[in-house]
Amino acid sequence: MRRKLVEHLQGKGITDTAVLEAIGRVPRHLFIDDTAFLNKAYDDHAFPIGCGQTISQPYTVAFQSELLRSSKGMKVLEVGTGSGYQCAVLCELGLKVVSIERHRPLYLLTKSRMRDLGYKASLHHGDGYKGVEREAPFDRIIVTCGAPEVPIALLAQLKPGGRAVIPVGLGEVQRMVVIEKDMSGHCKEMDKGAFRFVPMLADKA
Ligand code: SAH
Repeated sequence: MRRKLVEHLQGKGITDTAVLEAIGRVPRHLFIDDTAFLNKAYDDHAFPIGCGQTISQPYTVAFQSELLRSSKGMKVLEVGTGSGYQCAVLCELGLKVVSIERHRPLYLLTKSRMRDLGYKASLHHGDGYKGVEREAPFDRIIVTCGAPEVPIALLAQLKPGGRAVIPVGLGEVQRMVVIEKDMSGHCKEMDKGAFRFVPMLADKA
């Protein structure tokens, strides 16, 4: 089923072999708690994961991971740990992953799941709008919820030469924005199309 999913993602235009191989290794069925969706774990869909949140669609995970243009050993910040699926894909890419989630029950559930599966990400409970100051700076930043605008703290925690992938926009649909920070700290934005995410919410954590 994982092989079929990888072929499907290739068919949809994902070409980065490291990303495809990483997705081919992550057991997505172990990131879905609701047994009603288990037999669809390798379908290219988002599913509910509790707390009104969703595990991202595999195509979105693949697309964002490809846009990151990461290489092994880089330090990456993920905002919106959720089920931990995207986090696991980043771990499989050989990245040092720091991830933050604002829903405490999800954070706790995913923390034990990642431990059980042997993924060594540094997981945090808190408001991702503030990034994770004590682990900054980051080579890469990936946001997996829709932000009304690019969070300033995240840009500040991005290394010069770094790259961030952030869905930006209020309402149902966001633009996938890639931000490149040059060596003098100047940021350039690129638009990579329309996607749907659950909203990035502030200050509940
Ligand atoms: N990467 C996840 C996607 C989960 S959906 C996965 O692969 O399963 C997005 C997640 O972002 C939700 O769990 C939501 O609670 C979280 N989120 C929303 N606003 C946030 C914020 N300000 N800080 C941290 N997490 C946030």
